[in-house]
Amino acid sequence: MSQEKIVQTAGRDQLGEFAPKFAELNDDVLFGEIWSRTDKLGLRDRSLVTITSLISQGITDNSLIFHLQSAKKNGISRTEIAEIITHIGFYAGWPKAWAAFNLAKKVWAEDSIGDEAKAAFQREMIFPIGEPNTAYARYFIGNSYLAPISQEQVNISNVTFEPRCRNNWHIHKATKGGGQMLIGVAGQGWYQEEGKPAVKILPGTVVHIPANVKHWHGAAADSWFAHLAFEIPGENASNEWLEPVTDEQYDKLQK
Ligand code: MN
Repeated sequence: MSQEKIVQTAGRDQLGEFAPKFAELNDDVLFGEIWSRTDKLGLRDRSLVTITSLISQGITDNSLIFHLQSAKKNGISRTEIAEIITHIGFYAGWPKAWAAFNLAKKVWAEDSIGDEAKAAFQREMIFPIGEPNTAYARYFIGNSYLAPISQEQVNISNVTFEPRCRNNWHIHKATKGGGQMLIGVAGQGWYQEEGKPAVKILPGTVVHIPANVKHWHGAAADSWFAHLAFEIPGENASNEWLEPVTDEQYDKLQK
C-alpha cells in the first residue's frame, strides 16, 4: 500500500489563531505524518483504532462524529460498525457503547437510501427496479420506481419503494370486478385498509384489494420494498388518489 498524504485543516480552522502550535501539531503531525503513514497501517485500520480509543474514553462529542464519518469513508460498513461498537461495549462499558451507537446510527443512516443501497436491493430481487415513478410521484411520499412486467392479458408492474416511501391513501374504483392484487417480491412493506390495522408484506405475501376500498401500500421504515401490482380488469375502472399517509400515522406502525 502506498503512502497517502492526508490533508487536514481542522486545527488551523478552529484553533489557528488561539493555539497555533496545537493547530500545527494536529494538522501537520497527527494527520500529516501519523495518519498519512498508510504504507505501515491503512486508513481503515487507523479509523478502527481511533474510534475504539475515543469510545473507550467516553468521548462522544464532535470528534467522534468526525471519526465515525471518516471510518465510513475509509470503508467500514454499517454492519461492521454495529459489530465494532458491540465489541467495544464489553471492554469499555455499556453506556459508552449506547452513546456511540446514537451517533453511528445517524452517520450510517444515509446508507439505507441512495444508489448503493438501491443497487444492493436490485441484487436480491429477480424483477427489475425499473425507472423512477415520475408519473405518479405526486401521489407518493419518498421515491418509488416502476417496471412494467406484463402488458398483455393482465397488467402487472413491479413497484419498488425506498425505505419509508409509501403511496397516498387511494381507491381502485370499478362498478364490477376491478381492484388490485399485490405480491411481495423483496424487502418488507405495509398494506393498510382504512379502519383496519396495517399488515406486513414479506416476499411471497399475497394481498387482495377489492375494488372501492380505501387503502395504501409502501415500504417499512428500515427496508427497501418491492411488490408486484396486478391490475384486476373491471368495468368503469379508475383510480382515485386521496390524502397522504402522514408521518404520525406511519411512525405508529413501526412499534
Ligand atoms: Mn393500491
